[in-house]
Amino acid sequence: MEAIVEGSKYECLLFDLDDTLYPLSAGINLACRKNIQDYMLHHLQIEEGQIAEMCLELYKEYGTTMAGLKALGYEFDNDEFHANVHGTLPYDNLRLDPVLRALLLSIPHRKIIFTNSDKAHAEEVLRRLGLQDCFEGIICFDSLNPPALPCNSPYKPLSPTSDELSADLKESDGSTPKSPILCKPSIEAMEAAIRIANVDPDKTIFFDDSIRNIASGKAAGLHTVIVGRPTLVPGADHALESIHNIKEALPEIWDGQDWSESDGVLASTAAEAAVVA
Ligand SMILES: [Mg+2]
Repeated sequence: MEAIVEGSKYECLLFDLDDTLYPLSAGINLACRKNIQDYMLHHLQIEEGQIAEMCLELYKEYGTTMAGLKALGYEFDNDEFHANVHGTLPYDNLRLDPVLRALLLSIPHRKIIFTNSDKAHAEEVLRRLGLQDCFEGIICFDSLNPPALPCNSPYKPLSPTSDELSADLKESDGSTPKSPILCKPSIEAMEAAIRIANVDPDKTIFFDDSIRNIASGKAAGLHTVIVGRPTLVPGADHALESIHNIKEALPEIWDGQDWSESDGVLASTAAEAAVVA
């Protein structure tokens, strides 16, 4: 099924996980944000009144709040953070998705997950969706930030005490402190994923629900698909309201594929996909 299709425009599909392979309405994102804020309050002793804004600012500046906290110099164990943030997520909200499964298994190219989350969370989500055997691998926090690399930030902890958190993110020379964590949307993370997956970006399609990840993916030379929106965003080549609409929006993915075996499965799931979408 995943043999290279001769003359095909594409060779590999990179998929974000959260809010891309399942909808935002599942509530995982919201619960995750609450858990991060609880961790900031109880483990990092950050003043409660500052947490919501700080969380958002760091997320916007660094791609993940965790990467931003490390940039500010907060020291904590990565695994402990992930266990706290993902340990109580409402995974029961995620249901098996046989429609998506049939679509993915019919795609005659390599398929890889590319997520900022840790491996344990990624595996749990894929298991709940029934998609764990649809991908050849998972590029995740653990792949981008292997434990062998130094985890301690060289930066002194900043203690934001004013409402001007964005000002606190600036060094004395006006620059923003770098995070030791590699994650989307940094171009370095995109390039690392391309290297780890060993793909030609010009023959790779990147699916993500994040506008800035899509812009960065495009800058790294990938074909890009924004998921969860009906219209294009800057840097996106295609827009999918739901991941279930892949075939309608990008039929060329299946170019050269013999449909005699998979047509029946996909036809029977099309009506369901329309409802889910
Ligand atoms: Mg996402």
